[in-house]
Amino acid sequence: MSSPRPVVWYYDRTMSLLFIGRSTNMPAAPWTAEIAATKVKWFDARPAADAFWARQIMEKAPKHNKQIRYHPPVHGSYPCPKCGNQKERQHAPYCRACTREYTRQRYLKKLAAPA
Ligand SMILES: [Zn+2]
Repeated sequence: MSSPRPVVWYYDRTMSLLFIGRSTNMPAAPWTAEIAATKVKWFDARPAADAFWARQIMEKAPKHNKQIRYHPPVHGSYPCPKCGNQKERQHAPYCRACTREYTRQRYLKKLAAPA
């Protein structure tokens, strides 16, 4: 049932890593014009590809796989204890970006864990 799955590295012309994807389709993003080189590694099945992909992202931190964005302070000040930016909701433990990053890290760790 399982089909081969790729992990794809995208580099700019200075060979700095832009993005690591899990598809041979070009990512739909404004920075694709910067892509100068790609590298593909194929895996027999999805779990192995996902685990490798997640470990590569944690290790290499490609420019465009990062999710955290700066969000400017808004009226009503509830600083996030993690990053100091403003929380969107007073009673949330962290701001949305930190919560998203926490969820993402857990997701990556789960994928990276040996099956
Ligand atoms: Zn935060």
